[in-house]
Amino acid sequence: MKIPRGFRFGGVACGLKPARRDLALIVSDVPAAAAGLFTVNTAAAAPVLDGRGRVPAEGIRAIVANSGNANALTGPGGLDDVAVIRAAVADLLGVQKRAVLTASTGVIGVRLPAMKVVAALPGLVELLGDHADHAAEAIMTTDTRRKLASREVLLGGKNATIACIAKGSGMLAPQLATTLAFVVTDAAVAPKTLQEVLARAVHQTFNMLTVDGEMSTNDTVLALANGLCGNPRLSEPSPDLALFEVALTDLLGELARAMAADGEGATKLCEVVVAGAPSEEAARDVARAIAHSPLVKASLFGADPNWGRVLATVGSRAGSQGWAIDPYKARVSLQGVMVFTGGAPTAFDTEALRLRLREPRVDVLVELADGEARATAWGCDLSYDYVRINADYTSMIVQQPDGMMTKEENVAAYTPAFKRTLLVEALKYIGHFSGQIAVIKYGGAAMVKESLKVAFAEDIALLKKVGLKPVIIHGGALEVTRTLEKLGERSEFIDGMRVTDAASLPVVEMVLTGKVNQELVSLLNARNAGAVGLSGKDGTLLKAEKRGLESGVDLGFVGRVVEVNRQFLQMFLDGGYVPVISPIGITPDGTGLSINADEVAAAVAAALGAKKLIYLTDVPGILESAPDGALLRQITGPELRRRVDTGSITGGMKWKVEAIETALAGGVERVHVLDGRQPHTVIAELFTDRGVGTLVTAT
Ligand code: ADP
Ligand code: MG
Repeated sequence: MKIPRGFRFGGVACGLKPARRDLALIVSDVPAAAAGLFTVNTAAAAPVLDGRGRVPAEGIRAIVANSGNANALTGPGGLDDVAVIRAAVADLLGVQKRAVLTASTGVIGVRLPAMKVVAALPGLVELLGDHADHAAEAIMTTDTRRKLASREVLLGGKNATIACIAKGSGMLAPQLATTLAFVVTDAAVAPKTLQEVLARAVHQTFNMLTVDGEMSTNDTVLALANGLCGNPRLSEPSPDLALFEVALTDLLGELARAMAADGEGATKLCEVVVAGAPSEEAARDVARAIAHSPLVKASLFGADPNWGRVLATVGSRAGSQGWAIDPYKARVSLQGVMVFTGGAPTAFDTEALRLRLREPRVDVLVELADGEARATAWGCDLSYDYVRINADYTSMIVQQPDGMMTKEENVAAYTPAFKRTLLVEALKYIGHFSGQIAVIKYGGAAMVKESLKVAFAEDIALLKKVGLKPVIIHGGALEVTRTLEKLGERSEFIDGMRVTDAASLPVVEMVLTGKVNQELVSLLNARNAGAVGLSGKDGTLLKAEKRGLESGVDLGFVGRVVEVNRQFLQMFLDGGYVPVISPIGITPDGTGLSINADEVAAAVAAALGAKKLIYLTDVPGILESAPDGALLRQITGPELRRRVDTGSITGGMKWKVEAIETALAGGVERVHVLDGRQPHTVIAELFTDRGVGTLVTAT
């Protein structure tokens, strides 16, 4: 986030919360024009009662906000507490009390210990600087991510910046404002104009946001404009004012989406567009109603393409609000897939759509045939966790060592009924696993992204516990490329295979065997997986020979597997260990050769007589065509070969197909190509009948 001129931010822990930042301060070095919007909840909190009559105004210098206590419904003392805090801030900054605005969020009905705030303020003022991230963190409640963003806009030849920090999570409703959002800009804007522009921007953004339809007692949006960028002050409608409004609306839109995506218990963001409505009011009402419908939200959580609930909501609003809307003439699309048109459902591919509904963002489009008006609303899905958080708030939200809050996502957090169903389902599969060998090729994003690495290690440890015998072969092309780059060497690829010369071979070995392999072993053994790191050189595990020319080019020290030392591997498996193999082979004279990990995985699977071979990659599976063709859910080896020959499978996937053929020919029954970008995809594949990604069989 870029900080506008003349603004300083800070955030500290003042003790309202056990051990994290809970007090934020934003200061303008010069008096600023101010505007604000507040909750229309009549059980408004003390800072709202205090602030709402004081904007729009000139001469504002500071916003002080706390989390951990809403200062709402706390009796007459609540307003005294606001006054004490305002006076303390004014004193420290040497400004008037009327120049200070306040906001609070947190528990309702508990008196705010104002003295804790007052005691922390001198230290906070001392720390003021470009710490917008600390301020954004200090206003978080059950948010799991900080929300801050900025935009730049040219006004009268001057570069103005608009920045905003916000918090969202639960108790968000499309009534007014949001929970807390503070906008600061170095543009010069008259207070009344700022108020009007802010109101219009909020109307399009925060007011189109719904998480749970509950309206907070504390919703507050404040804006400060200090004019330090030097533009001619905006006070009348003008092209510059229009530019400013567009930038502000865009900025608040980004934060509204961030709030929806981070809603309590949310697993995905939902954007609802209603077009062709008879009036803007109708479009807004219907869009918000869809984003708000608990039935629509629950089906989104379950990735169920239940479009009937969308259209039912349209009809319900038309009937109850008297909108001139005919649902039978509507067209409905989910993730761009038309599901209803011409008064009837379409014959869409349910399974394909179900898969797409697992994505982190779901788009719902309702095209009405009743007018020209259009509106967009944002919401999220409704998960078990929403109830869990709000039924048993404290055990669901856990604190990390650094004080940040995260959602606890283990099964213990689910309802007893769901847990039972899950266990019954899962136990059925666990029986099949005992003693089975599964070879897993670990590659792509799953190897790079921290959270995915952890999820992978957890899956493997778990599979081992239920009696499966995993064998892991890892890639590491990305790490190798990066390291070579650091050493000033460029990597050359022929058809997705790296050309490896005598100078880069030791680097390849060092990165794959020395680094990637050892990191993975550590990660696994931190979960007691019994991992053993091996290179293909160890015990002559992978006897290899140099590859011939590829497209007429000598690939250098790149090999293919001649033989796998099965007995050596079997020894580890019999001992209950999980072999983790780096794709380096050895020639009879002891030279190392780099081998495509896909090929190693296939050779190992065939040698061990594994029933299952799993490839983790960076695409949803094998596609009709890369990069966005439809997913091939199940396919045979010969059919794959045909697709390589016709050119619809290329690059790295072509080598994977070659490897898959080797595996199938060697007796492996099922080969899976899975999306490693989805956490726990290995478990998802093994524990469900349908599976995920692409399944390849011999015939
Ligand atoms: P990794 O070996 O790490 O899994 P690769 O980059 O070697 O990843 O191989 C996967 C890549 O193959 C995909 O990212 C995609 O760009 C490419 N590809 C080419 N054709 C297809 C296809 N038909 N289906 C899926 N991926 C394909
Ligand atoms: Mg590859």
